[in-house]
Amino acid sequence: MTPLTRIGSERTRDFTESVIREMTRLAVRHGAVNLAQGFPDFPAPDWLKEAACEAVRADVNQYSITWGSKALRDAIAAKYLATYQLEVDPEREVTVCCGATEGMIAALLGLADPGDEVVVFEPFYENYAPDTRLCGATRKLVRLHAPDWSIDEQELRRAFTAKTRAIIINTPHNPTGKVFSREELSLIAELCQEHDALALTDEIYEHIVYDGAQHIPIITLPGMRERTVLVNSMSKTFSVTGWRVGWVIAAPEITNTIRKVHDFLTVGAAAPLQQASAIALTIGDSYYTHLAADYLGRRDYLLNILSETGFLCYPPAGAYYVMADIPHAARTLNDREFSQRLVLSPGVAVVPASSFYEKEKNSGQVRFCFCKSYDTLRESGTRLRQLDKP
Ligand code: GLN
Repeated sequence: MTPLTRIGSERTRDFTESVIREMTRLAVRHGAVNLAQGFPDFPAPDWLKEAACEAVRADVNQYSITWGSKALRDAIAAKYLATYQLEVDPEREVTVCCGATEGMIAALLGLADPGDEVVVFEPFYENYAPDTRLCGATRKLVRLHAPDWSIDEQELRRAFTAKTRAIIINTPHNPTGKVFSREELSLIAELCQEHDALALTDEIYEHIVYDGAQHIPIITLPGMRERTVLVNSMSKTFSVTGWRVGWVIAAPEITNTIRKVHDFLTVGAAAPLQQASAIALTIGDSYYTHLAADYLGRRDYLLNILSETGFLCYPPAGAYYVMADIPHAARTLNDREFSQRLVLSPGVAVVPASSFYEKEKNSGQVRFCFCKSYDTLRESGTRLRQLDKP
């Protein structure tokens, strides 16, 4: 028997396992409280589950139109008009896909070539590295500086070159909870126009903002309508991360390109769940207000636990994660070692923040998520209080 000599493709050679999902596996194996992976452990809204069951029973069980059912595309367009006074043509500017994850990779594959540069703020959600790698683009990293995760204007300006094809903006931001301000977005918009670059935005936490922070889609800024690719999904807003229903909004020619990739990648998102999503998006503003208020309560509950147990926190203005410094007593460990120890004893899973950096070996920080039931959060508190006990 001749052994296979070549296994992986060149483009996947430097892929590593998702640390977020690895921490979830460790949590399950060791019976730890999982504050690592960002998915709610409480039920999705009953009315939404009913709508999904109803769609299955009504036999919405075959492929929908590849770029999304008309009902969902219409609902998406109506939502952006109502929320942001943004006019979107559901026929030519919306692509429904399998979660924001597919939206981002389909956009990059459709729009970027090998040799192109893509600007990414660091720390960054771990998918953006493989996303850019798969389309052969080079990442140009720009730091968000703690404690407020601010941008250094000169650093950002230097990252843009003649080769810049796009910048990825995730706001509200995972893992830091930063909500990009109008001034910051205006600077990015100016640079995109100066360098003829695209803005690819991941806005999945748009409705999860605190303390008066306001989410601004960069597509609504002057000059950005034609060069923004807005990616969003049902997952976080409606607590259905497993549905895998997302969408991309972009000008017609850009949308055409993205639709071509999407068609061959996945054909389409789950038809009955699209139908239920169309109903969800007609919900009134009070749902979103309630969502933000609910997460504010969970955020403050976790922040209290963390400050009580020796973690210096960076309170987030949006999304549902908290970055925190490793307690003094444990500083001999790097963030990975600390996370590995924490999952074993006292049994709390977190994400070492170095996994949100390209080269950082030890960020000195870990990420906690708080999209969890109060029972789960309370249990994490009970366990974390045992940390400094011998
Ligand atoms: N977005 C979530 C997080 O950052 C889930 C990540 C994932 O598993 N895709 O934790």
